[in-house]
Amino acid sequence: KSASNIKDKDSGSSSSLKNSKAIKSEATSLEKLANLLQIHSSELIVHLLKQGVVCSKNQILKEAIVSETIKHFGFEVESIKKDNNTDSSQDRVVRKIKLSENSSKNLQPRDPVVAVVGHVDHGKTSLLDFIRKTKVAEKEAGGITQHLGAYKVNTKSGNMVFLDTPGHEVFSAIRARGLSVADIVILLIAADDGVKPQTIEAIEYIKKIEAPVVVAVNKIDKAPDRLDDIKTQLSQYGIMPEDWGGDAIIVPISAKTGKNIDELLDMVNLQAEMLELKANKNIPAEGYVLESNMKKGRGVVATFLGQQGTLNVGDYFLCGNVKGRVTSLLSSSGKKLSKASVSEPVLISGFDGMPSAGDRLKIVSFAEYKKGEKSKAKSPIFGKFNFSESVATNDFEYKNPEITFNLLVKADTDSSREAVCLSIEKLNKNIGSSVFKIISSGVGNITEGDISFADSIKAQIYGFGVKEDSQAKDIAKTKKVTVKNFNIIYKLSEDLESLYKENKKKQIIKEKVGSILIKKIFNIKGTGVIAGFVVQNGYVARESSVMIYRDKTCIGEGPLKSLQSDKKTVPKILSGREGAFLVDNFNDWAVGDQVEVYSIKKQQ
Ligand code: GDP
Repeated sequence: KSASNIKDKDSGSSSSLKNSKAIKSEATSLEKLANLLQIHSSELIVHLLKQGVVCSKNQILKEAIVSETIKHFGFEVESIKKDNNTDSSQDRVVRKIKLSENSSKNLQPRDPVVAVVGHVDHGKTSLLDFIRKTKVAEKEAGGITQHLGAYKVNTKSGNMVFLDTPGHEVFSAIRARGLSVADIVILLIAADDGVKPQTIEAIEYIKKIEAPVVVAVNKIDKAPDRLDDIKTQLSQYGIMPEDWGGDAIIVPISAKTGKNIDELLDMVNLQAEMLELKANKNIPAEGYVLESNMKKGRGVVATFLGQQGTLNVGDYFLCGNVKGRVTSLLSSSGKKLSKASVSEPVLISGFDGMPSAGDRLKIVSFAEYKKGEKSKAKSPIFGKFNFSESVATNDFEYKNPEITFNLLVKADTDSSREAVCLSIEKLNKNIGSSVFKIISSGVGNITEGDISFADSIKAQIYGFGVKEDSQAKDIAKTKKVTVKNFNIIYKLSEDLESLYKENKKKQIIKEKVGSILIKKIFNIKGTGVIAGFVVQNGYVARESSVMIYRDKTCIGEGPLKSLQSDKKTVPKILSGREGAFLVDNFNDWAVGDQVEVYSIKKQQ
């Protein structure tokens, strides 16, 4: 991507100007501009999005946008003139931009950010754990005291930052905006399970953000013969393996035994080298919030991953719908820092509200900070917190609002109580309905009284950093009240999230498939009351369930016990045909009863 790769329109030959480059409007697609500016196209997409310009990689950019972007990234527009040699009706413009001495010096290589995506249970967490245990530098390995949502790995060929939040909200939040914090994506597929719904979703995501991908076929220890099958499946989704003539790098690995993990990291490095990632570290910092929560005695804290610039203690920032001033910076080993550079995950304090994972954080001047608009949206529970508008729908579908869980929250301090409630509200917001109802929240250990209360209102108890009295434990057991205790907020949210997912799976879906009019009643001794009917609409099937209406009032319901047509047992009777059935536990039939027929399905 050196300057000489770009043709200088005026000279008709490769540009000889060391620090100067020319772009034609026909060449000013977002991707080409990104190449010229030596940044990744996703970074440029992010930058433009912040300016309110939604644009894809191949889109041609408007002249004004190109000029502004060039300036923003520290380049100078040297000259702009009409290009008369080409089709003037298209009003092509040739621009020359000059890389100023300063900005060229300021662009320094930066570490790539890597995300692992894939279907649940395919081994994302295992892979991240293996890498963290084996690759994080000795001095840090024992010292990772905080979960920052990202960690740095040292490999033979360089550092890389792994996003340590598989399936976590930051991905969903950013994915919903079609953007990525990650420069490179590892698509993980379990050899024994193959391509699954979330794999397909991940492939679509990778295509959308146009990030380079390395495919890791995991659990190869368990299913060593399945590699070709997986390759076939992948090729059906447009990922053509290298050895089949495509360009997808596929590495069979085992997150359990560690097999080929070094090779996988080498491949990731190779992709990183091709991207030639660079950032200007001498400008005010800008990057993403990966996670946010409430820490005891420290208020709101958030993990920040910088994409450009340097973050200093004392800096003012705007972030989603909140703002603040950096009062402290902590590294993953809990070390106090005075500044943090690009691709260096840090914990920031100093927010005036709770930011959302995926929010963009930007250092601003004091004047801009003062002007910073804050959202008027308030949490329904805690007025003093602002919720970001940008909380995205999560990566699973939450459509059915019928499930509700009553919760009792007990926490060790008031600030952690607030934080727990806030994270539950955030989860509800992601779900799009109030699945989790906090009936009451308080500070202190879980007592007998809490258990009795929970039992009476059919609630579950979620504790944070608290203990359960011994009597409370016994009563919880006898009354079968669920009590769960956590010390990390995101673990508590994850638990609730999986509780929701599990229940959703079990949820029964009732769909109306037909309607029936009762025409005759046969009381058969020893069998029950058989109702003769005509199907008016749709159908009735042996496995259907019915609701019986008389004068528009439901007088009974239940599954069928038998279904007959012409005295023969049949699986289904269609509209217009007659038949007879027995309904489980219902005999009180009358001619003229109206019956609604449902199919009952379990979700998934
Ligand atoms: P995630 O949901 O994608 O994060 O998956 P996990 O990392 O939790 O792994 C799911 C299950 O697969 C766990 O029981 C792991 O122990 C197991 N697992 C992960 N990687 C491997 C592997 O390489 N080989 C085998 N045999 N099991 C694995």
